[in-house]
Amino acid sequence: MPRATTKDYYQILGVAENAPADAIKKAYRKLAKQHHPDANPDNPKAAERFKEISEAYTVLSDAEKRKQYDRMRRFTSFDDFARSAGVEQRERGFSFDDLGGGIGDIFSSIFDFGRGRKRQASQRGQDVEHSVEVSFRTAVRGGQVTIDVPVTEECATCDGSGARPGTSTTRCPECNGSGHRSIGQGAFSIKRPCPACFGRGEIATDPCPSCRGAGQVTTQRRVNLRVPAGVESGARVRMSGLGERGPGGGAPGDLIIKFEVQKDRFFRRRGLDVYCTVPINIAQATLGSKLRVRTVEGKRVVLRIPPGTSSGTKFRIPKMGVEKDGRIGDQYVEVKILVPPKLNERGRELIEEFAEIEGIKY
Ligand SMILES: [Zn+2]
Ligand SMILES: [Zn+2]
Repeated sequence: MPRATTKDYYQILGVAENAPADAIKKAYRKLAKQHHPDANPDNPKAAERFKEISEAYTVLSDAEKRKQYDRMRRFTSFDDFARSAGVEQRERGFSFDDLGGGIGDIFSSIFDFGRGRKRQASQRGQDVEHSVEVSFRTAVRGGQVTIDVPVTEECATCDGSGARPGTSTTRCPECNGSGHRSIGQGAFSIKRPCPACFGRGEIATDPCPSCRGAGQVTTQRRVNLRVPAGVESGARVRMSGLGERGPGGGAPGDLIIKFEVQKDRFFRRRGLDVYCTVPINIAQATLGSKLRVRTVEGKRVVLRIPPGTSSGTKFRIPKMGVEKDGRIGDQYVEVKILVPPKLNERGRELIEEFAEIEGIKY
């Protein structure tokens, strides 16, 4: 013979039988916060009450389960229903898994357990890393560059919920509140954030106008960046407080700039030393010469090439390399003999004469 239900979920949540879903949710959130075991560590009754509230919400928040419950409410016992609805009642212990039905996810959204992008207590914002290309010259001498850094951060208008302020969210029907979808099968399946709810497990009934429901916004942050003299590719600087906004009013993260130094057409660099290649002609190589060579500092220095210099010979110009932290490198100049592609008749005669003197066969 059917018994009356032992528990009245509507009564537990303090809502009317015909209460709309968002009223149920609101009541639940309020009660759950109040009776959460973490908030009442010394009160065993709170845990019991909390479990009750959670059960009630598991059922009433699910349209199908609620309908079923309403039907069974008058005709069957609660225990039968609880079993059929998959609500487990345990005497001891407490874990969110016990609650089933994605309820753990709802908790994490209230109490900031678990997943990252949830409604959060005050937290430090994420660091943002951004690469910046600087010219070879700027990297050597240092300087100032202005860059725009895209920063994706929690939407300030909706605090990341994606809902227009003052409106509610509902459990995402695509992922059933879990916030992720599994792609593939069995051992090969991978979890991806649910595209419908942006991984939050909840969707906004009225999306936030600032972020269109995404809960996050990408802004361009204009940053005046000082390039330290002598910076090398891969070097990083940390700019305090220029990262993502801290959720819930927390301190912002940092912006980490990674330098990429562009190649130069003339100079190459190894540590503090710079290398360049300068073309000379046969006469300069044979007779010796004075070359005017550019330095990284933009000066021109005179380099003496002694008579009889072969192609590939390197000359060192001391202290004309990169200056960094009080140390300074050298500049190395490699000469490369360029042979004239065409000689006039007179030129040809002279080279032939030269070959005769030297006994060179050609
Ligand atoms: Zn928003
Ligand atoms: Zn979803």
